[in-house]
Amino acid sequence: MDEQHKSGPAPLLALALLVPIFACMPLMGVGAVAVLTQIEENPAACVVSAVGETAGDVTSTPAIPNGWGDLVDAAAKTAGLPVSVVAAQLKQESGWNEGARSPAGAQGVVQFMPGTWALYGEGGDPFSAEDAIPAYGRYMAALKEQVQPLAGDDADLLVRLTLAAYNAGPGAVQAAKGIPAFTETQQYVEKILSSGQGEFSADCTAPAGTIAWDGDLGDGEWTNPLPGGVFTSGYGHRNVPGLPAWAQDHVGVDLSTPGAGSGNGGPIIAPTDLRITGFNDKDGCVIAKEDGDDPDFGFAFCHLNAYSVAVGDRLKRGDVVGTEGNKAGLGLVATHLHVEVYKPEAPEVVYPYQGWNLDPEPILKEKGAWVR
Ligand SMILES: [Zn+2]
Repeated sequence: MDEQHKSGPAPLLALALLVPIFACMPLMGVGAVAVLTQIEENPAACVVSAVGETAGDVTSTPAIPNGWGDLVDAAAKTAGLPVSVVAAQLKQESGWNEGARSPAGAQGVVQFMPGTWALYGEGGDPFSAEDAIPAYGRYMAALKEQVQPLAGDDADLLVRLTLAAYNAGPGAVQAAKGIPAFTETQQYVEKILSSGQGEFSADCTAPAGTIAWDGDLGDGEWTNPLPGGVFTSGYGHRNVPGLPAWAQDHVGVDLSTPGAGSGNGGPIIAPTDLRITGFNDKDGCVIAKEDGDDPDFGFAFCHLNAYSVAVGDRLKRGDVVGTEGNKAGLGLVATHLHVEVYKPEAPEVVYPYQGWNLDPEPILKEKGAWVR
């Protein structure tokens, strides 16, 4: 066992429950084109956000007032940001008040300062949402472009850095090569992401009852839990700018459906017979034990946008667990499945960083369940 995972479970349990526990930053835009053998329709219209090429899939989120849903959608597309993030920012700036003025001179629903408005307002009226929200889209697109080189292919990190640039200025982000170490900026990024996810994401509900996935289960003892997915990130230590130190230890593997962006991805299926033992709603995790005769491995399947299971359900290999998504307490992540595998002697309900994690990759490979 390596240095990061030798601690016993008791003192870390509270920590794991208090802090956002996953830090999955998969590489987006993975070149591979996998055939998505998705059989079930996505169980819910769970449109959370859109990044880049998935922007066309966006529908208005329900909580945008004043009939401004189309304006917000269009600005999100211009900016290349999730609709939920745009909505959370506008709410934060002015509480959706078109006529808002701050003592410092900020104007309108977006709270543009006159100098910024002169650059992005295109001669319009900062107190008109019809003018200001599109200008906001142009402004955010410009900020995003400036921090893009720091984010590489990581769509989630790009959203965070763009928000940091909005709060602290793009120069500060470039100087820090990540989110600057300003408490206000760090809090701003977290606040916008959590508000976006909590208030401006469409409700995600899954149909009741067990759904069998009718794709090919393969020849192995187990099946790949994300049949259309590719491998994007491995177990172990990594260096992701903007993530706190504790989050640099990745205690699972990431798989993602190519092109899923930040919306719903493919079905997550039981890799082997499972008993569902718990949930971690904040991170969209379904926690399970292998339902066999031997000492059985434990699992967590995380960032799901919707679940198809309940505690106590017994699933057969291939039954649908839920929908690949981007739900995460740490904020928006790009859509992917984070899988953890726990030692057979682990308790029924296990959280990460408690010392039970195993590297899933060699186990999934040995069971014939690795990505094809
Ligand atoms: Zn992960």
